[in-house]
Amino acid sequence: MARFVLLGLVGVGKGTQAKRLSARLGLAHLATGDLLRRHQEEGTELGLLAKGYMERGELLPDDVVIRMVLGELEKEACRPGCIFDGFPRTVEQALALDRAVGPEGVRKVLYLQVPEEVLLRRLSGRLVCRRCQTPYHRESAPPRVEGKCDVCRGELYQRADDRPEVVGRRLQVQQEELVPLLNYYARQGKLLRVNGDLGMEAVEEAILAALGLLAPRG
Ligand code: AMP
Repeated sequence: MARFVLLGLVGVGKGTQAKRLSARLGLAHLATGDLLRRHQEEGTELGLLAKGYMERGELLPDDVVIRMVLGELEKEACRPGCIFDGFPRTVEQALALDRAVGPEGVRKVLYLQVPEEVLLRRLSGRLVCRRCQTPYHRESAPPRVEGKCDVCRGELYQRADDRPEVVGRRLQVQQEELVPLLNYYARQGKLLRVNGDLGMEAVEEAILAALGLLAPRG
C-alpha cells in the first residue's frame, strides 16, 4: 500500500503538493487541518474542541488526532493508499501510525524545506476556499475572480490562524515538534528532503524525482 507523509512548516506548500500528488498518484489526501476545519463548520463535538487550539495555533492532544486519523484510514477512500498532510505532527503520532499500519506501512516521508522569511510572506497572503479548501495567494496565485474559488466557486477567506500574530506562534510550535519527527523518520531511512522554495510544478517534479517516479531534470 502506498502511503506517504509530507512534512514541513506551516505555509511550505504541503496542502498544495499533497493535492497534486494525490491526484497524480490516485491516492487519498488525508489532511488533518482540513478535517478539523470541516468538523468546526459542521459544529461537531470534535470541531468545538479543536476551535480553541486552532485559534491559538497550538496542537490538539495526540490521542484526539490519532483517533480521528485512524478512523479515516478505515474508510474506502484510503484503500489504495494516501498522502498524509499535517500528520504526524509529533513522534507520539508517528509511533501510533506505525503501530496501526506496521513499520513498512509508511513508504517514504518527504520534508519540504523553505526559508522562514519566505514562509511568513506566503502565509500573510494566503486565502483558502471555505468549501473545498483549495489554497490561493493574493499575489502569487490569485483566483480568476476575486474572492471566489476557481474550482467550486466557493468563498475565499483568510484562516484565523494565518493572522500575523498567530503565524509566529504556529511556526515556533511546529519547529519544536518537527526536529524529533525528522530524526525519527531519518533513523528509519525514510526521510527525503525536497527544496520547497521553487514554483509549484518544480516542487512537484522534485518530489516525484525524490520518490524515483520521475527522472530529475538534467
Ligand atoms: P494545518 O491546516 O495543517 O496548518 O493545521 C491547522 C491546525 O490544526 C494546527 O495549527 C493544529 O491546531 C491543528 N492540527 C492539524 N493537524 C494536527 C495534528 N496532526 N496534531 C495536532 N493538531 C493538529
